[in-house]
Amino acid sequence: MSEITKIGIIGVAGRMGRMLVEATHTRATAVADGETAPCALVAASDHAGCEEIGRDAGEVAGVGTLDVSIRTDNQTVLKESDVVIDFTLPAVTLSYLDKAVASKTPLVIGTTGFKPEEIERLRSAAQEIPIVFAPNFSVGVNLMFKVASEVAAILGEAFDIEIIEAHHRHKVDAPSGTAIGLGQAIAEAIDRNLDDVAVYAREGHTGPRESRSIGFATVRGGDIVGDHTALFAGDGERLEITHKASSRMTFANGAVRAALWVGAQSPGLYDMRDILGFRTNA
Ligand code: NAD
Repeated sequence: MSEITKIGIIGVAGRMGRMLVEATHTRATAVADGETAPCALVAASDHAGCEEIGRDAGEVAGVGTLDVSIRTDNQTVLKESDVVIDFTLPAVTLSYLDKAVASKTPLVIGTTGFKPEEIERLRSAAQEIPIVFAPNFSVGVNLMFKVASEVAAILGEAFDIEIIEAHHRHKVDAPSGTAIGLGQAIAEAIDRNLDDVAVYAREGHTGPRESRSIGFATVRGGDIVGDHTALFAGDGERLEITHKASSRMTFANGAVRAALWVGAQSPGLYDMRDILGFRTNA
């Protein structure tokens, strides 16, 4: 690793990709006189059909010229960078995973929507390289994981647990990775296996609620950046813990923080709770 962390971004022209360029640029330039910049954007890619290919990543993100041309070759981004940040699609992440292992490039993965067997592939790659894989990079959501887990453990069996999430009309996976992550954190805290107790959809004559189930409800519309609620419903009262993201910059800042952290780690699969010190079972 060089003194300045050389950051590469895959999926740079996307909603999150542009935010990541801005967040990296902000970290790179917010230094006092005489200080060395902690990071620099050195490489960026998007898919071949993207109309921003060949343009400067800084200009696409609206932060001015950075002399980083957007290319189609993810492998070159891996080779030229100390750390690569990826917010794309599961198929894209999986397509370059072996190459990241071969070039020993640490990864920060924000992509959501992986199937369980695909997450196993991430876990296996993480035996060779450090990977931060988080469904949500915001401080508030990761604190919510911890608080909601503690609340679930205190309330016990008398309260039913439901998770409600809302996102913008363009989101392609449901429920959100954050909602699933929240469900997993809660389930772990109360000795349930989410795969056994999750109810992802209800329609028609569903019968009464299974007492130990954890239900999910999904809302899609407009430009909602990301809302998540953990609802604990008892007899005569209910408790709701809600997080609302109002800007994608909160995710981008968290991902850049993770990128500056991950290069110094041993191989392993980490998430944002490791970086923030919020892990419940730490
Ligand atoms: P988006 O569709 O705006 O961006 C995805 C980008 O990936 C696009 O620019 C697309 O062209 C690019 N891409 C597609 N194929 C590619 C390839 N082969 N090589 C390189 N780039 C390729 O989506 P988005 O809203 O930015 O979200 C991206 C992902 O990040 C989603 O899975 C979303 O759920 C997730 N996300 C995670 C967090 C978090 O905190 N973990 C926050 C927001 C979004």
